[in-house]
Amino acid sequence: MSGRPDDFERTVSFAKIALDQIKALRLSAAPRNYEIWYHYATGYNASLNAAINDHISKAGTLSTEEIDRIYARFFTPTRLGEQIETIGGKVAGRIDQIMAVLDAALGSTSRATETLADASDQLGQAEDDAAIRGVLEDLIRTVKEIESDNRALEHRLGASKNEIAKLQQNLEELRSESMTDPLTTLANRKCFDEALDRLIEEAVQRGLSLSLVLTDIDHFKRFNDTYGHLTGDQVLRLVALSVKQNVKGQDLAARYGGEEFAVILPETPLKSATTVADYIRRAVMGKELMKRSTREILGRVTISCGVATLRPGDTVHTLIERTDACLYAAKRAGRNMVVCETDPEVSPDLQRRIA
Ligand code: GH3
Ligand code: MG
Ligand code: MG
Repeated sequence: MSGRPDDFERTVSFAKIALDQIKALRLSAAPRNYEIWYHYATGYNASLNAAINDHISKAGTLSTEEIDRIYARFFTPTRLGEQIETIGGKVAGRIDQIMAVLDAALGSTSRATETLADASDQLGQAEDDAAIRGVLEDLIRTVKEIESDNRALEHRLGASKNEIAKLQQNLEELRSESMTDPLTTLANRKCFDEALDRLIEEAVQRGLSLSLVLTDIDHFKRFNDTYGHLTGDQVLRLVALSVKQNVKGQDLAARYGGEEFAVILPETPLKSATTVADYIRRAVMGKELMKRSTREILGRVTISCGVATLRPGDTVHTLIERTDACLYAAKRAGRNMVVCETDPEVSPDLQRRIA
């Protein structure tokens, strides 16, 4: 039940929408145009779609120049890694500049010390008022120069500080993007894997409980086959919302696979985790689905849930395996059901292993 998402039909339907748009606007079907329209079809990037819609509503089509602009804005550089490298390069550049400012500040401090020492010597040797005045005038001039240098240094440091704060924010946005599932905005599988690893370790160290819920939409293939993958995607968003609305605090909700979701519940024993899973199940079942474009009533979807709790000697792998076995038991027992690892629906083999 935790296999890879079946992307075939969904991606082909996005491709078809992309090609239909290209044909309707009589654009070239070159890879770059196709890439833009494919992303448009997925609807994942709201600002890309808004930019395209806005332009088409004004100009009726997309000119080559406009395509270039959209591509530069939304697709270059497209890879997260490249973007992180660019920001990394900028941070390194800024650090070099700050080091130069600090060098200059250190130079200015040692110049001030030298000037004071010289002035002190010259004052000791001064024989009349005019000589003393000369020394003081030199001193005042040098202090003013140092003051003005320091103001320039402060200004440069201030600019670098602002730039670094901006770069930090960009990095944070990229980091969060790389951990988020774009369709549902829940944590993605990568984030889930890292979090489960870390939270199990913490629970073991602090001697606290931790439970895991895995859920899988029932007969979702049938739903997709009946209403299409794009409507299926909207349902995934709705189920994700039900998951999100029923977890809180330090719980972590994630899209585990295609139509599978997971919730990690730290400091939560099996019984409470089972209650949370049942709230989610009821929330999903309680929503009547309606296709927004046609207002057609599509009925309801249900989910099955498996729940297991951390036991001595558990690893990430064994905890997931037991939770998955419970989910499988819920499917076998008729779906739209929550099964936890101490329930009689679970296989005798699993019961024996838990005992
Ligand atoms: P079961 O009750 O046994 O879970 O039946 P099922 O049909 O849900 O199970 P199965 O694993 O056979 O099919 C899962 C389906 O989920 C296949 C695919 O059509 C759909 N699916 C997976 N990922 C996505 C997605 O991102 N979007 C959409 N629309 N459908 C998806
Ligand atoms: Mg599945
Ligand atoms: Mg399913």
